Amino acid sequence: MSKVTQAQIRCPHCHSISEYNIWISANVTVSPYLRDEVLSGSLFWKDCPKCTEGFSASHDLLYHDMEKQFCVWLKYPNAAGEIEMEPGADRADRVFKSHWLRIVFSRDELTEKIKIAQDGYDDIFIEALKVFHSAKFDIDFESAFYYDRTENRMSRKTIVFVHRPDGAAPIEHTMDLREARSAIEPFVPKIGAAIKSDWSPWMWVTRPTVLMTFEECGLLSGMTAPETVQNISDYVLEKAETLVTMANSVAVDLNSAENKLQLPYALTDDVENWHFLVTVAGVFSALHALSQRVSEETIDGITSGKVLLKLDQWNPKGSRAFSDCRQFVEGALECASNEQVDLTSADAIGMWLLCKLYRRFPTPEETVDARPLGEFLLETFDEWWVEAN
Ligand SMILES: [Zn+2]
Repeated sequence: MSKVTQAQIRCPHCHSISEYNIWISANVTVSPYLRDEVLSGSLFWKDCPKCTEGFSASHDLLYHDMEKQFCVWLKYPNAAGEIEMEPGADRADRVFKSHWLRIVFSRDELTEKIKIAQDGYDDIFIEALKVFHSAKFDIDFESAFYYDRTENRMSRKTIVFVHRPDGAAPIEHTMDLREARSAIEPFVPKIGAAIKSDWSPWMWVTRPTVLMTFEECGLLSGMTAPETVQNISDYVLEKAETLVTMANSVAVDLNSAENKLQLPYALTDDVENWHFLVTVAGVFSALHALSQRVSEETIDGITSGKVLLKLDQWNPKGSRAFSDCRQFVEGALECASNEQVDLTSADAIGMWLLCKLYRRFPTPEETVDARPLGEFLLETFDEWWVEAN
């Protein structure tokens, strides 16, 4: 069902806030004109009653095509910068049976998903194709590179993509459909079954998430695509460049008054100590989370080649504290498995932090904070690796 609601939106021209009718869901099978309005952007277009200027509003929209059996949820972060799912969204697969459920975070992504479905493709096929093409032609994984259309060229079906590098004119890339199918389609079911989503059952199918899934499934090694193997390390290396900065800002955020973990004051009180230790534990957690996704060699390469240097540039004691954390966590996990004690990586990371922050072994009451701390860091950085820069 299509649905309109009222929302307060700030005009980007005169900055006054007015109330507008906005579409929060669009059923394009019942109301086909809504598809055209989404694609043209007119569905998002608002005229400010104060200054009469027009602007495009950024708001969530659930796009539902009953005929093609797919739903795409366009979501924007809330005031706290988080993607908040509506109650019941996690059970959507029961409501929209045998539908594709997708989540996207920009209008360009939404437009692309609509075009892909209209033309009868599987988006995992299209994204996997883009992964290989991007690797081959050195297209930045974060740049705007979208499926546009399929057309006949020289009597062959040809897929046309449009690449819009930052600040440059759009460039069309074409691929022969039949060749693309024979190269990529064998992998599509495996990727489809293995791809993970933080918003499950709403899947985020993009080049980075598909590439990560390829790597996780060990599919890259069996392929004759050395450029792509190169490319995942490049992608990870690029992210690793900013890992220490990221860990530092997570430490700062987590120390602020509105933090969600409700840690005792005694832990967060010594701000300098907190920033140092949480940053180190954050960096460790990030690499630990990444080790679930990429090979050990890739992790070792970026740890010794990049992350430890960055840590020491940031704080001369950084890499030593990192090694201490690693030893502690690995030791604790080994011990636990020998003694068949139930201990997660999150518990061990959290325990290291508690020991260091209290400067003593925590009491049994105090140890309850270990798991949420460790889980928070692992989850934050696991998401961060697949996030666009
Ligand atoms: Zn205005």
